[in-house]
Amino acid sequence: MRTQVVIIGAGPSGLLLGQLLSRSGIDNVILERQSAEHVLSRIRAGVLEQGTVDLLRQAGVSERLEHEGQVHHGVEFAIDGKRERLDLHELLDGRCVTVYGQTEVTRDLMAARKASGGITLYHASAVQPHEIAGESPYVTCQIAGESVRIDCDYIAGCDGFHGVSRQAIPAGVLTEYERVYPFGWLGLLSDTPPASEELIYASHARGFALCSMRSATRSRYYLQVDAGDAVENWSDERFWEELKARLPEETAAQLVTGPSLEKSIAPLRSYVVEPMQYGRLFLVGDAAHIVPPTGAKGLNLALGDVRNLHLLLERAYRTGNPSCLERYSELCLKRIWAAVRFSWWMTTALHRFPDTDAFTQRVQDAEWRALLDSRAGRTTIAENYVGLPFPALD
Ligand code: FAD
Repeated sequence: MRTQVVIIGAGPSGLLLGQLLSRSGIDNVILERQSAEHVLSRIRAGVLEQGTVDLLRQAGVSERLEHEGQVHHGVEFAIDGKRERLDLHELLDGRCVTVYGQTEVTRDLMAARKASGGITLYHASAVQPHEIAGESPYVTCQIAGESVRIDCDYIAGCDGFHGVSRQAIPAGVLTEYERVYPFGWLGLLSDTPPASEELIYASHARGFALCSMRSATRSRYYLQVDAGDAVENWSDERFWEELKARLPEETAAQLVTGPSLEKSIAPLRSYVVEPMQYGRLFLVGDAAHIVPPTGAKGLNLALGDVRNLHLLLERAYRTGNPSCLERYSELCLKRIWAAVRFSWWMTTALHRFPDTDAFTQRVQDAEWRALLDSRAGRTTIAENYVGLPFPALD
């Protein structure tokens, strides 16, 4: 089999890249280790930056998002038991975020893939890129017991943090930057109305909590838990009691609880690899970087990489000159590090670390006051939360 671009991974990055390339007339094949149902069952991100929504619009996959996505003009912080709202819309001249689950983005992209007739091979095992440093790369895999080889011009590694693409780059080429946090997030999904119309990020002496949502009737809540904790330790009852203890009293009093649809613990990590390209292999999204979910940046950053790679590939094919592709890493990394900084800061400023002493806590409280009491401070948080602009290609 031959195609122009082999995409490894059918998560949001791989599917969006496939969609954009197909719309530009660039042939591509997606290889996914799991089934489509499995990919759709992963409960993950929910907050889309303004730029991400615009990108999905350009890709022609925003019809349901326009109707079902919840546009949020603000976000709240509960510091020391007091709720304070950041009016994103007013601070940023009408820019805001949209709440629409990653599963829904993925579902829309899968439907568009089907409609376009693009090939996605699910249950692909032993996927392996070859000859990535040369001009004729190819990918091999096993599908239903058959060996498959796909020759191509380029390979896009959209296969997440545990994928095979990053491992295919020779030792010594990549530099890794990492911070592992000493806690995780215990998430609970429930068919209950959200605690508030907008997200509430709560910093409390017992630990961080987040009130989020997927729709007017479905809520997603998170609690900071120790890194070694296990879901089995958390009955629904215990979860709700702990959440109430970390929220301001009036919010806790109004909280509607119910049985969990899903509960899971996600470790928190910041990770970036540089460069994001080797020869004809490009790392995209979680394959190249991970951020803690505190700033709601992971999915947004991943789709930002897709936007850059699509524009560069489109230019390379249109002009017949692939030299622009050498700029991929540089184009992505500045915005990635800005988001890594913001996610790290939000995590540091909202969580309790095992070594947070009284002095550190007072400084942290003072930092929140300094930021929230000044328009410049509020605007800085808002700009980063809503998402920084995409880089210009030239
Ligand atoms: P993935 O979604 O990881 O997709 C990679 C795909 O590649 C998968 O389908 C995988 O099965 C496939 N694959 C892997 N290895 C292979 C292989 N060898 N061969 C073929 N296929 C392979 N982000 C936010 O912005 N906000 C949030 O609130 C948020 N919450 C999160 C909560 C959790 C629990 C997790 C885990 C992540 C969260 N994120 C959040 C991050 C966000 O979900 C990711 O940034 C996003 O999924 C990245 O998309 P991706 O397509 O790059 O990678």
